[in-house]
Amino acid sequence: MVLNPFEVAKKQIDIVAEEMELDPNVTKYLKRVERSLIVSIPIVMDDGTLEIFEGYRVHHSTVRGPGKGGIRFSPEVTLDEVKALAIWMTWKCSLLNLPLGGAKGGVCVDPRKLSFRELERLTRRYASEIINIIGPDIDIPAPDVNTNAQIMAWIMDTYSMNKGRSVPGVVTGKPIEIGGSVGREPATGMGLYYVLEAMCEKLGLDLKTQKIIIQGFGNVGGTIAELLYKEGCKILAVSDISGGLYYSDGLEIDKLLDWTQKGNYLNDYKDNRYKKITNYDLLTTECDVLIPAALENVIIQKNANDIKCKIVLEGANGPVTPEADKMLFEKGIHVIPDILANGGGVCVSYFEYVQDIRAYFWELDRINKELKKIMLRAFEEVYEISKERNINLRTAAYIIAVSRIAKAIELRGIFP
Ligand code: GLU
Repeated sequence: MVLNPFEVAKKQIDIVAEEMELDPNVTKYLKRVERSLIVSIPIVMDDGTLEIFEGYRVHHSTVRGPGKGGIRFSPEVTLDEVKALAIWMTWKCSLLNLPLGGAKGGVCVDPRKLSFRELERLTRRYASEIINIIGPDIDIPAPDVNTNAQIMAWIMDTYSMNKGRSVPGVVTGKPIEIGGSVGREPATGMGLYYVLEAMCEKLGLDLKTQKIIIQGFGNVGGTIAELLYKEGCKILAVSDISGGLYYSDGLEIDKLLDWTQKGNYLNDYKDNRYKKITNYDLLTTECDVLIPAALENVIIQKNANDIKCKIVLEGANGPVTPEADKMLFEKGIHVIPDILANGGGVCVSYFEYVQDIRAYFWELDRINKELKKIMLRAFEEVYEISKERNINLRTAAYIIAVSRIAKAIELRGIFP
């Protein structure tokens, strides 16, 4: 059975609504998205043939501020997945107390099959198609799975050309040269690191001695792997879409990053000490900290009982389903939820947006200091509620996030 992420996101709302005794009208309101736009993206390929791609942009809630959320390029993207991701952005921004709402976008395409120019045309046409529902005070996109600073630069340029002036604040995660922020690229990984450090402290664990397994070796997985490797942790296994590598004495992360940053797959890496491992088996391999940092719905009812770690740190959005969440909690595994754990990205996106609007740029020290402050404040709030009510960290995080949204809805009222 393929799990529908939108159904998962709605189920999570039901769980927290019950715990909080939320007004049923608010529950109903939160389960629908404000608007979803489906666009068709015709592209003339380099060989002269025409290909049509489908793209989406969804606003879940702008009740606390303009929509915010990434754009992913993936052949598996569906409208329901984008809706779920937009919902999770609402909770993430609210939990971190950023004055932003939740949005998300996606294009159903495998970008690895496109040339550089085809990718540019696709991005620019997608940006033109969604131009009326994005903007610095409407909805501000950012990178997500398979999108990066170059793609944000094309979106910023397309938007700016149409408006007749440069509008850097329309997207975040841009190159630094055109209004991007220092520290944005590693921000999600940095945030994961701060939260994990704080969790280890609560549990009386020494971070350096933790054995780590990471699924995903892109911007999020790669950065947290590098940070923990530098800290001295043993990284037992990492993976990308080609599969994973395992070594009980710890992988040499610096060499693997060098390899993948040149465009190679982990599966093609040669070191006879390393054992090949599938993405599925990697999740159930024994470790202290398991970091799913790829896609949603990977820890599910079927494999949750086989997870052998102390902490699951959600680098990806939605990697653990509600059923699996319950099973992990009963096993005494601490799941640090996505909306808290991977919030570092959107947090520095917010700093980038503020810097663009003010046209005044901060130094890296300030970025990292303020990022750490926001991440740790959210972590402490979540941890305290989870202890007070004896509930898992996700439900605790949702209570905080949903309460703020519910309050904003109450204050603003339902129009008209
Ligand atoms: N795509 C990232 C996320 O899921 C970042 C979003 C943003 O910076 O707006 O949190």
